Amino acid sequence: QAKDKEKSNIQVFHVAMETYSIQRLKLENELRHAISNQEFILHYQPQVDIHTGQIIGMEALVRWMHPTKGMIPPKEFIPLAEETGFIVQLGDWVLYEACRQNKAWQDQGLLHVPVSVNLSMRQFSEHGIKNKISEVLVDTGLPPKYLEIEITESMTMDVKHASDWLNKLKKLGVQVAIDDFGTGYSSLSYIKQFPIDKLKIDRSFVNDMLLDPNNATIVSTIIAMTRQLNLKVIAEGVETKEQLQFLQEKQCDEVQGFLFSPPVPSDTMGSLLEQAVQ
Ligand code: C2E
Ligand code: MG
Ligand code: MG
Ligand code: MG
Repeated sequence: QAKDKEKSNIQVFHVAMETYSIQRLKLENELRHAISNQEFILHYQPQVDIHTGQIIGMEALVRWMHPTKGMIPPKEFIPLAEETGFIVQLGDWVLYEACRQNKAWQDQGLLHVPVSVNLSMRQFSEHGIKNKISEVLVDTGLPPKYLEIEITESMTMDVKHASDWLNKLKKLGVQVAIDDFGTGYSSLSYIKQFPIDKLKIDRSFVNDMLLDPNNATIVSTIIAMTRQLNLKVIAEGVETKEQLQFLQEKQCDEVQGFLFSPPVPSDTMGSLLEQAVQ
């Protein structure tokens, strides 16, 4: 009896595994065609000055408009894209499209603010990333100071290489931000070795800093230290007025979160930039 049950459990498991890998292969295949089928779009989330509420930047966030499944969020395909290496191609598209759109907005006389683009480890360690970025800037005509590259702390673990790459990127004149700061293992003294411009405090700390005193301490310590190191600091995932007020008291510079706006399609972002110059 028990043996039979075990056996059938194993069968269920096998069937589940098979279904899983078939689905995965299917998704992988669809992902590969999604660029030429023009199924990717960028949404943009405004970043605002904490005191004036003025838009000071935006983050480009990719979405997959799947023909049958509808809009798929990045957490459901970025990991697969990373594993398969497809992220390099996708990342190239994101970089180009974000720069092209930003330049188009500037040409239309809308607010001139930088666009932040998330870079994956695979793109970062790719040989020639500096040339690729400079090519995109030349092709789109976007001045380098309007591009900000977001990397994560884990990408700086290999200190020697990371410093090399970052120095090259800085020479191009682009901005560099560390995303999801506080979730990795780097200390601020270590961060100081890198030519970076901004830290983005991870959403998880902001999320419950008003409930968890430890998170409140982490947030205020990061802010205080960025001041010491002359770095800019932005808090991610600000959802409430109370969180905003706390961050204002701690003298955080910038905020990004649902309180101001979720990521929005490009036409909506364009309207926000238009309103901002009127
Ligand atoms: P991220 O770079 O940390 O982006 C911020 C994420 O937080 C976005 O999720 C955004 O929608 C979400 N968010 C912003 N404000 C709030 C808030 O107030 N509350 C809550 N609950 N969430 C908020 P999204 O767009 O789903 O992206 C998730 C992650 O996917 C990004 O995290 C980034 O790591 C990755 N990603 C997105 N686009 C790209 C891309 O073009 N390339 C690469 N390599 N990764 C990307
Ligand atoms: Mg980001
Ligand atoms: Mg983040
Ligand atoms: Mg993240």
